[in-house]
Amino acid sequence: MALTGIQIFKLLPKTNCKECGVPTCLAFAMNLASGKAELDSCPYVSDEAREQLAEASAPPIRPVAIGKGVREAKTGGETVLHRHEKTFYNPTMFAGIITSDTPVEEVEAKLKVWNALQYERVGFNLRPELAALKDVNGDADAFAALAKLIAETSEFNLVLMSEDEAVISGAVAVAGFKRPLIYAATESNVDAFGKIALDNELPLAVKADSIDGVIALTEKLTEMGLKDLVIDSGSRDLKQALEDQVAIRRAALKDGNKALGFPTIVFPCEMASNLDMEALIAGMFVAKYGGIVVLSDLTTEVMFPLLLERLNIFTDPQRPMTVTEGIFEIGNPDENSPVLVTTNFALTYFIVSGEIEGSKVPAWLLIKDSEGLSVLTAWAAGKFGGDDVGMFVKKCGIMDKVKHTELIIPGYAAAIAGDVEEELPGWTITVGPRESAHLAGFLKAR
Ligand code: SF4
Repeated sequence: MALTGIQIFKLLPKTNCKECGVPTCLAFAMNLASGKAELDSCPYVSDEAREQLAEASAPPIRPVAIGKGVREAKTGGETVLHRHEKTFYNPTMFAGIITSDTPVEEVEAKLKVWNALQYERVGFNLRPELAALKDVNGDADAFAALAKLIAETSEFNLVLMSEDEAVISGAVAVAGFKRPLIYAATESNVDAFGKIALDNELPLAVKADSIDGVIALTEKLTEMGLKDLVIDSGSRDLKQALEDQVAIRRAALKDGNKALGFPTIVFPCEMASNLDMEALIAGMFVAKYGGIVVLSDLTTEVMFPLLLERLNIFTDPQRPMTVTEGIFEIGNPDENSPVLVTTNFALTYFIVSGEIEGSKVPAWLLIKDSEGLSVLTAWAAGKFGGDDVGMFVKKCGIMDKVKHTELIIPGYAAAIAGDVEEELPGWTITVGPRESAHLAGFLKAR
C-alpha cells in the first residue's frame, strides 16, 4: 500500500535544509508521494526510513530483469490495469522456441535469421529479445551445449526450459552469465529449482495448473529468499489463459496480493496449430497482460506487427511520440538536394519521410522540436514559429551540408514564411504542399 505524503513526511529528517531542491521536507514528501521526486534526492534519510519508503514505493508487480547485453530488458513493474490510467512501463518480451535436439547448424542459421528481425521506428530499435531453449529429451549435455552457443554467439538472451534439475544446472553453469530465465519451478522440483536460482542469482519462472497452485509456489520461493519470479498459470486453453492473466493482474494491483505480484509468461505456441494463429493470440497477450510471450518461431511477418503493437501499447499515452530534433538524410542527398523542415511529431515524421522516400528525390529533412505536436497544432501553439524555425535552420548544421539557400516549409505553416525569411536573410522560403500526400508530386515536379 502506497504511503501518503504525511506518512512519508514523518520518516524524513524534518530539517528543511533544501538540499533536495524544494524548500521543505513536507514539500519533498508530497512530491515523493505523487511520484514527482526520487528518494535519493534527500541525502539525509536514515537507512531504516529508506527501507520503509522503498518497500512502500515498490511497484505492486515486481520488475524482473532478464538477460544481459543489448537485448537485456525488464518485464513487470506495471502499476495500472489500463494503459490510459497512466502508462505501461516494461514492454512484453518476445521469445522464439529452439528445441534441444536441433542440430547446431540449424540453430546457427535460425539465430542469424532472428537477428535480422530488427526494425527502426521513432528512434527505437524494435526486436525480439529471447530464445527459449526447450529440453525435449533430457540430454543435459546437448542442452548445455546449445545454451552456451546461443549465449556466447548471439545477442539473444535465454529462457532455459526444462523441469529436470540436471539439465538446468548444466545450462546455468555455461550460460548463467547471460542471466537467463529458468523455466520452470513446479510442485515437484520447487526446492531444487529454487536453490539453483538462489545460488546463481537468476530469475525463475513458476508453473502450476491453477492460480492457487502458483500462489503456493511463489510464497514458498519468496520465503526461500527469491524475489525475481515469473508466473505461468499453466492454462493452455485460450479463454482460461486470458482470464488467468486478468485475474493475476487484478489480484496484484487491486487486492495487493504479493504472491501474484510478478510478471507472467504465456505460450501462444502451445495454444495454436499454426504461426498465424499464434501471432493473433500473441497480440492479445501483448495487450493483456503477458510479460513474456513465447512463439514457436520468429518470422518477419509475425514479428513486425507484434513489435509495432508493442511499441504502441507501451508508450506513455499522455505524451505524444516524438522524433529526435535534427537532420535526417533521405535517399543519400547531396549539396544540391532540397531541404524541407517539419515538426517532431512521430506520425508527421513517418508520413513526410515516407512520401519523400516514395518520390525517389534525395532530400534533407529537418526535424524541429515542437513538443510532439503536428504542424498545424504546433504553429497554433507557438511551437513552430518563423523565428524558431529560422534559428533552428541556422544552428542545426544544414548550412554546412548544402550549397543552395532554399528551405521548403509545410503548406500548413505558410504563415511563417515571412518570419523565416527575416531570420534567414538571403534564403528563399518555398511553401510546400499542405497535404503530405502531394509531397512526392511536388518534389518530382521541381
Ligand atoms: Fe528535508 Fe531531505 Fe529535503 Fe533536506 S534534503 S529539505 S532533509 S527532504
